[in-house]
Amino acid sequence: MTRTRFAPSPTGYLHIGGARTALYCWAFAKKLGGSFVLRVEDTDQERSTQASVQAILDGMRWLGLDYEGPYFQMKRLESYQRVVDVLLKSGHAYPCYASKEELDEMREGQRARHEKPRYDGRWRPENAKHLGLTPSVGVKPVIRFRNPDDGEVAWNDLVKGPICIQNSELDDLVIMRADGIPTYNFGVVVDDIDMKMTHVIRGDDHVNNTPRQINIYRALGETLPQFGHVPMILGPDGERLSKRHGAVSVMQYSEEGFLPEALVNYLARLGWSHGDEEKFSAEQLIEWFDFEHISRSPARFDGEKLKWLNQQYLKQADDTRLAALTHPFLEKMGCNVDEGPDLSRVVGLLKSRVNTLIELAQAAEYFYRNPNAPEDLKLLHYGATIKPALVQLLGHLESIDWERGFINTAIKSVITEHKIKMPQLAMPLRLMVTGTVHTPSIDVTLELLGREVVLSRMRSQLAVFPL
Ligand code: GLU
Repeated sequence: MTRTRFAPSPTGYLHIGGARTALYCWAFAKKLGGSFVLRVEDTDQERSTQASVQAILDGMRWLGLDYEGPYFQMKRLESYQRVVDVLLKSGHAYPCYASKEELDEMREGQRARHEKPRYDGRWRPENAKHLGLTPSVGVKPVIRFRNPDDGEVAWNDLVKGPICIQNSELDDLVIMRADGIPTYNFGVVVDDIDMKMTHVIRGDDHVNNTPRQINIYRALGETLPQFGHVPMILGPDGERLSKRHGAVSVMQYSEEGFLPEALVNYLARLGWSHGDEEKFSAEQLIEWFDFEHISRSPARFDGEKLKWLNQQYLKQADDTRLAALTHPFLEKMGCNVDEGPDLSRVVGLLKSRVNTLIELAQAAEYFYRNPNAPEDLKLLHYGATIKPALVQLLGHLESIDWERGFINTAIKSVITEHKIKMPQLAMPLRLMVTGTVHTPSIDVTLELLGREVVLSRMRSQLAVFPL
């Protein structure tokens, strides 16, 4: 059965690059009816935090990526110890007592000789014997993996194609620290074996680790999973995407008012394609996903395209759902939503005009709070000549049935009577009741605002007319 995994280190937020890799792994496992595992690689005790674990879990849930797990490496220390013992016994690993000062000195010497800095293998048992090294009393050693000296490591990368590295390029890496905590390259192999991973898909910043990991698989006599390394996401300037470029954390997109399906679609398409399709659902991604169409070159993040997609999804979203999502943004702005008109009708009216939920909340603000029209717009639209028409409209609005058709008729009759054009009346009217001249059709807007609100806003603005 196909098994894939996402293995983030909980040392910050859930980065959208990581989320994209997770999405590919998830879609691939789903497509083949397999499992997608979440494994938290929390062995860096200094940098791992509970808040970051939570951010990862929140991000996965928000994006709708369901998983088996989560498993935590720090809860699996016994497994790593067990495998270290196997490797020690078979001679594929050995204790190394070299101190930090000694290693620094070794590297400095290599640099001075213009050699590549690498561990020189001095604690390999035969070398230690030859050099007469003896373990210092009371010092706990690290465990190093004895990398093969000759030959090569080759694999056919699912994204990058054939890759081959000479073993002579690799040194004996530390697989377990003195405190019994595994290093990344070892923990990941033990876990991927124990968790029966069939495909290891990750960012291509790990490409250099893969040959080391393959050697450990071989030493253990285990079959290899398939490896695939996905290119990084770059910012618009071609540098690796970072905070400098704007939001990089998944949850920040939630806070900025993006819909999860828009981010999922955007991330999926960023670096992978299915013909010319730009807008597709998670279900379609599952159906179409393959490794052949992952781009081999890094993709550039394009915030405008994400906004465009978000707009497409906002337009088609269910009004009740949108109301629930917009509610907290309005409350945060200090609006009391429960005292105004039905929010689902309001968002239904406005959703096609905005790019994000924040913009939706801002567009909805005048339904829940008296607006402040900008002075320059008032100067432009609050002219003395239009006042009588507005006063007359106010009179009509006091008595008609409150329904868009009657509101519309009232407006039209005033226009005819005063021989003016629609915008001459509608612009100041919009400004008086909404604080802006950009609103959906005025009759629906007034209907939704409700008679009391409309009349009171008109009255208070007419009191300052003309400016
Ligand atoms: N913990 C590693 C990371 O966050 C996982 C890499 C992998 O998938 O093997 O980069």
